[in-house]
Formats: sequence, C-alpha cells, structure tokens
Amino acid sequence: MNFELSQEQQLLRDNVRRMMDDIATPEYIREHDENGLYPYGVYQQWVDMGLFGLPFPEQYGGYDGSVLDMVIIGEELGRKGYDFLGAYALTIFNALNILRHGTEQQKSHYIPRVINGEIRMSISMTEPDAGSDAGNMRTRAVRDGDEWVINGQKLFSTAADAKNNIIHLYCKTDTTVPYQQGISLFMLPYDTPGVEIRRLNTLGRRMLGTNEIFFNDVRIKDDMRVGKVNEGWPCMLSGLLLERVVTSAGYVGNSQTVVDQALAYAKERKQFNKPIGNFQAIAHLLADMQTKVDASRMLMLRAASKMAAGEQPLREVSQAKLFGSETFAEVANQGMQIMGGYSYMMEFDMQRHYRDARSTTITAGTSQMQRNIIANTMGLKVK
Ligand SMILES: Cc1cc2nc3c(=O)[nH]c(=O)nc-3n(C[C@H](O)[C@H](O)[C@H](O)COP(=O)(O)OP(=O)(O)OC[C@H]3O[C@@H](n4cnc5c(N)ncnc54)[C@H](O)[C@@H]3O)c2cc1C
Repeated sequence: MNFELSQEQQLLRDNVRRMMDDIATPEYIREHDENGLYPYGVYQQWVDMGLFGLPFPEQYGGYDGSVLDMVIIGEELGRKGYDFLGAYALTIFNALNILRHGTEQQKSHYIPRVINGEIRMSISMTEPDAGSDAGNMRTRAVRDGDEWVINGQKLFSTAADAKNNIIHLYCKTDTTVPYQQGISLFMLPYDTPGVEIRRLNTLGRRMLGTNEIFFNDVRIKDDMRVGKVNEGWPCMLSGLLLERVVTSAGYVGNSQTVVDQALAYAKERKQFNKPIGNFQAIAHLLADMQTKVDASRMLMLRAASKMAAGEQPLREVSQAKLFGSETFAEVANQGMQIMGGYSYMMEFDMQRHYRDARSTTITAGTSQMQRNIIANTMGLKVK
C-alpha cells in the first residue's frame, strides 16, 4: 500500500499547517480552552480557505475531495488540539448526511451555507440512559399536521450552543417497533423556542463545550426531517466509517504534537548536569511513543486508502479508531511524566492534551465497542 501524498495533497497539508500556525497560536488556544470559548476565528479561516467545500460535489459549491484529503486536514487540525478537529468534523459529518439522505431542496439550501460558514452543525444522539446503546433513546417526536412536536432530553452534545448551529437530532418517532427502527433524524436550529441548552463542566474539550439539552414542546416543520421517517438509524450508520477515520486522523495529529513537545522538553531540560532525554528511561519512553504514533498513522492511512478505493473497511476503521485513541491517551499520560511538575501547570500545553485525550477512548464509540466490532469481523458474536 502506497501512502505517498500527491503534490496537491502535500500543498493542502502545508497550507492548512501554515494557516493553523498563524492563527491557532499557543496564546489563542490557552485563552479559548481556559474560558470555554468556541474558536470562531479559526473556524472562519477554514471557511475562507474553502475547507468546508472539500467533500461536497461541485454542484453545491464543493470540490469533490477524497477521504485522503479529509484525513490530511484531520491530522493537521488535530495537531493544534483535538477540539479543532471536532469543530470542523461536526459540521462536515452532519452536512454529509444531508448530501446522502436529504431532499434536493435541503441539499441546495444547506450545503452552500455550510461551505460559506453561515451555519454550523452538531449531533445529538446520546441521552442519560442511551450511551453506547444509542438505539435506546427516549426523546420523542410526534407528528402534528406538517409539524413535529419534540419532547425529551439529550446529553453530552458537543458545541450545541455555538452561534448559528443546527442540531442534528435523533428522535424516537415510533415506539411500537424494535428500538433502532423507530428513529428519525431532524435538523433543529439551536435557538428554536422550547430548546434549552446547558453547558456541562468538563475535564477537557473545553473550547467546544459539552452540553445537555432539554426539549419542551419544540415545534419543527416536517421539511426539517432528513431521510425517511423511522430511517434515522441507517442515516447515522451511513457516515460512521468516514467519521471514525477522520476522527482517528485528529488523534494522530494531536498525539504527534504530544511527542514533539515531550521530545523538545527532554532535549532542553537538564537534571544531574545532562538533558533528561539522555537518560535511557526517558529516551526509550519517547522512542515507544513515536513508534505507537507512527503505527496509529499507518492504521489510519490504511483504513482511509481502502475507503478511497471504494471499500467499506469496518475492521480497519475500528482498529484505527481503537489504537489511535488509546495511543493518544497513553502518550499524553507519558508526556505528563516526561515534563515532570511543569506538566501539571496550566501554562504548559501538556495538561490540555492529557485532558482532551482522555475523552477519545469514550467518544465516537468507546474502545470496548470498537473491540466488539473487530471481534465480530473475526467471526465472534459479541454484543
Ligand atoms: C466530551 C464528550 C463529547 C461528546 N459529544 C457527543 C455529541 O456531540 N453527541 C452525542 O450524541 N454524544 C456525545 N458524547 C457521548 C458519547 O458518545 C458517549 O459518552 C459514549 O457513546 C458512551 O456512552 P456513555 O457515556 O453513556 O457510556 P456507557 O454506554 O454507559 O458505557 C459505560 C462503560 O460500559 C462499556 N460498555 C457499554 N456497553 C458495552 C458493551 N456492549 N460491551 C462492552 N462494554 C460496554 C463502555 O465501553 C464504557 O466503558 C460525548 C461524550 C463526551 C465525554
């Protein structure tokens, strides 16, 4: 398998890296992380660079990019912090669901507005009693003429409160059928009357924020439904491989930054009259860290290449997601050790990587769920 980037892809990578270096400075990131501020300035730069057009067809203003282009962007945004990848990916993944399942009217209305930055998108599946078992959701949408009335609660919704956000909301629309079958997908502007969004206090991922959302007799027109009634579950599944492989690219980017920062520190910091990187214990730790990050990158690129070739590599994507997130959490923990007491101080970035990394083996399908998927592709029957 050849993982060489084409000249265009190298240019894309270099341009995104340069733009992120210019705007997502350490001071910018620290201020946004500490104060829980959404990175609107960086998002606008992505709009100006045309990054939101990448995966969409030309007829809606896009550039017909490939999965490989997406993972290149994913890794570059992730280098500055996993939350940046999150902001980009949330909008892209949900807008792709419109492309796959929306009406022509929805596509021509929403996709150009995603590309020009007028709107952004988030996803709400999880509920207090429906996490890994998302099909167990209870939030109800009941039809009333050409409207739906929504009642219920969602939990852990990333960036739901960002300006001009449209929540992609999965609701139960038929309680009489087995549970994953009676679910539909709706687009709900975040400021619709009856929607109450509350920011939760989290360990990390503080730029985008994690929210709980309450729906109290929320009325929404039927033309805000995406896909067929009761076919929300297949809508959600249809984007899962792309979401997980691009997310894995974000893990690789952020993990590489962890290693780079720990390495730079190990070369600089002297104890017992020599750089701590000259102690074999630290040097071997760094060698192991870089090896695991490289392995994560290879797994991610293997999965992305198969997808670019038209395959549906469920096992490879789950392996990239599993290994990438566990590596990110592991190297961030080791980075803390290498930087000693300084790592624990808020003015050093390692603590942010450590806090952000800890979420990644839980979100977008936990590590246990990835192992279940991998085991099932090996002929086992795990639930
Ligand atoms: C920072 C953050 C951001 C998030 N953003 C979003 C978002 O934008 N939108 C959204 O809808 N959700 C979001 N989530 C929710 C996330 O997807 C869920 O937390 C995740 O699906 C796990 O659900 P849970 O937390 O209820 O854990 P549970 O499902 O209760 O799992 C608890 C433990 O049991 C294990 N477990 C559960 N079932 C099995 C099984 N069958 N086999 C083996 N082990 C199992 C899990 O792996 C885990 O270790 C976010 C969560 C966090 C922390």
